[in-house]
Amino acid sequence: MDGVTVIEEKKMLLNLLEYAWAEHLDEALVLLSRTDMKTVPLAGGTYLLGQTDDSIQAVVDLRDLALAYITEDAHGVHIGAMTTLQSMVDAPVLQELASGVLSRAALASSFSRLIRNGATLGGTLGAGVASQADLLTALAVLDAEMVVRSGSQTQVNLSGGTLEHPGLALSGVTYKGKQERHIPFSAIFSERRPNELILEVIIPRLVHSGAAFMRVGRTPTDVALLNAAAVVQVTNGVFSQVRLALGGVNMAPVRLLATERQLEGQPISDAEDAQLLIEALNAGIAEFHPPSDFRASSEYRRVCGTNLAFRVLEEAMNISRGYGVVSSEGSK
Ligand SMILES: Cc1cc2nc3c(=O)[nH]c(=O)nc-3n(C[C@H](O)[C@H](O)[C@H](O)COP(=O)(O)OP(=O)(O)OC[C@H]3O[C@@H](n4cnc5c(N)ncnc54)[C@H](O)[C@@H]3O)c2cc1C
Repeated sequence: MDGVTVIEEKKMLLNLLEYAWAEHLDEALVLLSRTDMKTVPLAGGTYLLGQTDDSIQAVVDLRDLALAYITEDAHGVHIGAMTTLQSMVDAPVLQELASGVLSRAALASSFSRLIRNGATLGGTLGAGVASQADLLTALAVLDAEMVVRSGSQTQVNLSGGTLEHPGLALSGVTYKGKQERHIPFSAIFSERRPNELILEVIIPRLVHSGAAFMRVGRTPTDVALLNAAAVVQVTNGVFSQVRLALGGVNMAPVRLLATERQLEGQPISDAEDAQLLIEALNAGIAEFHPPSDFRASSEYRRVCGTNLAFRVLEEAMNISRGYGVVSSEGSK
């Protein structure tokens, strides 16, 4: 068709039959556990409502479930699934937690304040790698834990029991009810079941640790070709805990475990710090195989990743030692 531009119409959830505005968590769980109608959670909708998924028949709006909160207790900082990215940017507790890496990563996850006001933590985790969010890399180094709940039906065997509580003489019983479990961040993409609702993320408090987050994009407002986050704890001049992750557009964050293992237990000495980090990074980068796409080649990401990882490790180390007071990326 010469001279004619064909604009493909974007179809969005064309087979949607039901929009449920849940008022109670249990109600949402029952709706999401239905097997006769594909039902998915709707958070900010910034990702979901643009999908061309014809199989989705119903959405459950989570807005009234009181899941937008940031609180603290002995376990750490709890961030409700419906907390928006902008609330994470603004929350003083997150600006202070782990040198503010989570707050900064939330800011970097979307350049548009309009999107950050709608997009939520739960929606970002639900979208996973497709969210292209910097937040995922920061969560990877914070030993974050996700609390999920389902209202699913599971086949259970009640015949066994324990010595204290002997079981019933029944097997093959179907359990109907709520099931809640905690999933470590490292396993969220592999372990979360489709009907499980994300309730909150728990970040343990870090004591005397330094953290850093940096990113590289074609422009400051573009998605990150690569991002890096590190948490370092130095105790009595020794690396007592090291967490390092690289991530970026179209890839799940990757922890550089070989680097972490090599550094933990090593003493720090001003003269040899750089050499120590480089050797440990070489071990970690050998296991880092990022994807290639039209934005950047795998090789570019590996080279760039080495540099970025060095800088976040160094910054986190310096903060932990008390040398760095303000992060190199500055305040928001
Ligand atoms: C114009 C535009 C630009 C964007 N730019 C960026 C960007 O630069 N960077 C970026 O990171 N993202 C970007 N996004 C994508 C989007 O902002 C993120 O993916 C966002 O974090 C999704 O959050 P949400 O609350 O809107 O989720 P939704 O769109 O409501 O849901 C996302 C997915 O998660 C599931 N879900 C939602 N809540 C839960 C829950 N509690 N438990 C289980 N599953 C759940 C949904 O069913 C869906 O599959 C952009 C979106 C738009 C429209």
